Amino acid sequence: MSKSLTIALSKGRILDDTLPLLKLAGIEPVEDLDKSRKLIFGTTDPDVRLLIVRATDVPTYVEQGAADLGVAGKDVLMEYGSQGLYEPLDLKIANCKLMTAGPVNTPEPKGRLRVATKFVNVAKRYYAAQGRQVEVIKLYGSMELAPLVGLADKIIDVVDTGNTLRANGLEPQELIADISSRLIVNKAAMKMKHARIQSLIELLAAAVERRAG
Ligand code: AMP
Repeated sequence: MSKSLTIALSKGRILDDTLPLLKLAGIEPVEDLDKSRKLIFGTTDPDVRLLIVRATDVPTYVEQGAADLGVAGKDVLMEYGSQGLYEPLDLKIANCKLMTAGPVNTPEPKGRLRVATKFVNVAKRYYAAQGRQVEVIKLYGSMELAPLVGLADKIIDVVDTGNTLRANGLEPQELIADISSRLIVNKAAMKMKHARIQSLIELLAAAVERRAG
């Protein structure tokens, strides 16, 4: 049985915040990920390699076993549905909030609410739990635009400082969930490579604690 590990990561906030944690766990890429267009990178641990994938694709790579582990935002996991994965560790990085937002000082429409978001499953679950009928409009980005041009009444998006919302005349409204990035693990890999993965989880947990302390 191979004891090699493949870890799926996405570029941007998650990569920037995960690399220091991996370094504390003894794993460093052997080349600068930001300066390369490659998608597979070796590390200082010959048994560990990193894959660079789209943030929303990380759960797919891990659930299907193309990667043993991955780092994904809780927002992505809530949308994907993470019952096919283990989620053993909150890395406490890339923190933000998943929220509804709408135009400042604008009452809700009387009829069916139109909500634009890339988090379609989250939106349906959230409003269904409130017994509200909504029309969910799937977008892939620039959600803030939708209420400004009459495509939707509200949006659901991740919010950090809220500056992007305010710059577009919107305000954060209801909190759906606090978000941070999670370590996720393929279920079969967790069995087959248990000792190796368990020790990495413990090293990363200690790195998270050190970073917080
Ligand atoms: P804000 O600081 O609220 O203006 O955030 C700017 C944009 O960055 C937001 O619209 C989000 O799309 C995105 N964003 C902020 N925090 C995160 C995060 N932790 N993960 C992913 N996207 C984020």
